[in-house]
Amino acid sequence: MRILLVEDHPQLAASVAQALRGAGWTVDVLHDGVAADLALASEDYALAILDIGLPRMDGFEVLARLRGRGKTLPVLMLTARGEVKDRVHGLNLGADDYLAKPFELSELEARVKALLRRSVLGGEQQQRCGALVYDLGTRRFSLRGDILNLTSREQAVLEAMIARPGRVMSKEQLAAQVFGLDEEASADAIEIYVHRLRKKLEGGGVRIVTFRGLGYLLEAVGD
Ligand code: CA
Repeated sequence: MRILLVEDHPQLAASVAQALRGAGWTVDVLHDGVAADLALASEDYALAILDIGLPRMDGFEVLARLRGRGKTLPVLMLTARGEVKDRVHGLNLGADDYLAKPFELSELEARVKALLRRSVLGGEQQQRCGALVYDLGTRRFSLRGDILNLTSREQAVLEAMIARPGRVMSKEQLAAQVFGLDEEASADAIEIYVHRLRKKLEGGGVRIVTFRGLGYLLEAVGD
């Protein structure tokens, strides 16, 4: 799952991005409101973390424009401590949660997880496809009860697939979930990750089916 972080304070942005990447998410970092507005209009994010005081366009305006385009992804606003009117304004504009600076990275991570659980997994802690189970709390996949060892890329591909049960996902859609803005999104690389995932899922009662020219579908194998 891909997250957009918009924060103009360089050290804070770097430490938040590092923490989120360490937790296995793909994170794009932008430092101004106009760039954030463009990225949110063109890229596919599971969640955005939005500072309010930003160069060129403030976080409120970015949020208002995002909701104006009908996008429902969860938005976590970063506010200054004690600024009640900022929080209220943000929530009225369609923010889902806020965090006052300074904050602990562990709290930010917990809130991000909670927001993703609500939006992506419909409030469920676990997502299943046959014997494959994804736990959003631990962010681990298990197959027939055994934890699957996945690289962060493999994990991102499988997360994208299990979040959209029964839907064929194109290589481009998967690449959009796996690669950040500063990386070259490669549909060929997706083939490699799918190939590796198939090996890891082999014999586990779940498989990735190829639909030629369309993409991939994760499905349980009936016995
Ligand atoms: Ca700021």
